[in-house]
Amino acid sequence: MPRGEILIDEAICKGCGYCSKFCSRGCITVPPDRFTPKGYLLPVFSEPDKCNACGVCAWMCPRFAIEVYKYVEAQ
Ligand code: SF4
Ligand code: SF4
Repeated sequence: MPRGEILIDEAICKGCGYCSKFCSRGCITVPPDRFTPKGYLLPVFSEPDKCNACGVCAWMCPRFAIEVYKYVEAQ
């Protein structure tokens, strides 16, 4: 059961890959054949079930291109 979700703004991502490198759960990959509109390598949120919404990917992104959402139980 995923505990969070991230959104990557493709328009401002520069393809550095920090988000992928620093996600300790391996949720983000950078495939060699996906590109942003500006031609940078595009990271993909490929393992959403492992995400715990820790926020590290967003903190490490030098472009502030990632938003993290944490799922909460409805009361
Ligand atoms: S919020 Fe944490 S677990 Fe989820 S993708 Fe980002 S670094 Fe990985
Ligand atoms: S850290 Fe930010 S700029 Fe770098 S690849 Fe990930 S989303 Fe793109």
